[in-house]
Amino acid sequence: MQRGQRELDRLVVDAKLCTGCGSCVGLCPYRRFYRDRIVTLFPCDREEGRCFDFCPRTPADLDGIRKALFEPADTTPELGAVKAIYLARATREKVRSRAQHGGTVSTLLSLALKEGLIDAAVVTDRKDAMDPFGVVVTDPERVVSHAGSSFVVSPSVAAFNRAVRDGFANLGAVALPCQALAYAKMRVLPEDENNPPAQRPSLVIGLFCSWAFSRDRFSELARKSVDPYLVRGMDIPPKQYGVLQLFTGERTVDIGLEEAKRCIRGGCHYCFDLTAEFSDISVGSALLEEDWESARGWNTVIVRTRRARELLDLARKRRLLECREIPSQVVSELKKGSLEKRARARRNLVLKSGREGDLVYLDPNDPMFSALQQGA
Ligand SMILES: Cc1cc2nc3c(=O)[nH]c(=O)nc-3n(C[C@H](O)[C@H](O)[C@H](O)COP(=O)(O)OP(=O)(O)OC[C@H]3O[C@@H](n4cnc5c(N)ncnc54)[C@H](O)[C@@H]3O)c2cc1C
Ligand code: SF4
Ligand code: SF4
Repeated sequence: MQRGQRELDRLVVDAKLCTGCGSCVGLCPYRRFYRDRIVTLFPCDREEGRCFDFCPRTPADLDGIRKALFEPADTTPELGAVKAIYLARATREKVRSRAQHGGTVSTLLSLALKEGLIDAAVVTDRKDAMDPFGVVVTDPERVVSHAGSSFVVSPSVAAFNRAVRDGFANLGAVALPCQALAYAKMRVLPEDENNPPAQRPSLVIGLFCSWAFSRDRFSELARKSVDPYLVRGMDIPPKQYGVLQLFTGERTVDIGLEEAKRCIRGGCHYCFDLTAEFSDISVGSALLEEDWESARGWNTVIVRTRRARELLDLARKRRLLECREIPSQVVSELKKGSLEKRARARRNLVLKSGREGDLVYLDPNDPMFSALQQGA
């Protein structure tokens, strides 16, 4: 199989599998991300390209990647590699008040910069939450100004690629699960003159992700209730509320969740990963029994690699993070959610290929499917 731009377009973009992760952008002058779409400015005839290799939707040996990056004893079929799992939150009120949930992501990233574990980090700028994009930060104090979530796809890996091209090395990144897989592919690909050591991220902090919105469709829906350019943040309270909340700074606007879900990016329907299994450490909300206002101030944290464990231990030692034991019920719910996402991806991929057992870009015998009932 050719492994260049043409084949990437045929297998991923034209097949409507593209996640908008940005991993194929910033490597050459011919490819851009414009309004939620990959645009090819000039067709490239190379038979091999990093765009193809990094894309999370091109076929790859995921089990080989897992074995290269994680300790086999840590691997679970539901959540990927798990060294430890906690509830955590930032101790600094300033961080928590700006963060999406407990501020664990911003705290860990800022500490990694301060300690020199990384020299720069790729985060998402969400000044306009409808049009997020990746930016590079080097000042630990600036990390928190990029805290919070936009549920619109941010092509932030393009900023990582541009940073490598501009001479940055020893980079960290915050990544959605599809982006964490792209970074994992970068980490295991052999080094050569086109693929310098700087292309391997030193730290990947993953975010849990059920789905993300397509920019145009979601802006159109939001416009019925609020000027989309005023939206500074968003969140989804527990299921029983049935709403998506948009924050403008002055008011909160509720949109029906079912209506909002019609704006989910098409590529997300084929996504198997809820918890960013290919990152060093994954962070999401805390599905606690207590009321949402206090639960939203905590994160669920899955530690996957040794370097992440060292960073988390340091954050606790410096009293920047506080951790709590996670109730077993919360872990069970998370595993259930993860398996539901795998089952949904498998069903949708079979529908796409039209053949039982043909999962397009995934191997049906991958161990991650082992915990699923046949036909689930
Ligand atoms: C598209 C999306 C879907 C999500 N779905 C779920 C879910 O289903 N379940 C769940 O538990 N959690 C989900 N999350 C994660 C959740 O919203 C929080 O990011 C997470 O709990 C970490 O909280 P925090 O307070 O530690 O993060 P913060 O300290 O506030 O840091 C958040 C970081 O995320 C980055 N970021 C913001 N928007 C994006 C984006 N679009 N793409 C990439 N990075 C971004 C910011 O730059 C910042 O560095 C989702 C996040 C996103 C962006
Ligand atoms: S999934 Fe990511 S790497 Fe693949 S085509 Fe889309 S933007 Fe490019
Ligand atoms: S659902 Fe999957 S493909 Fe979509 S943004 Fe989240 S991680 Fe990426």
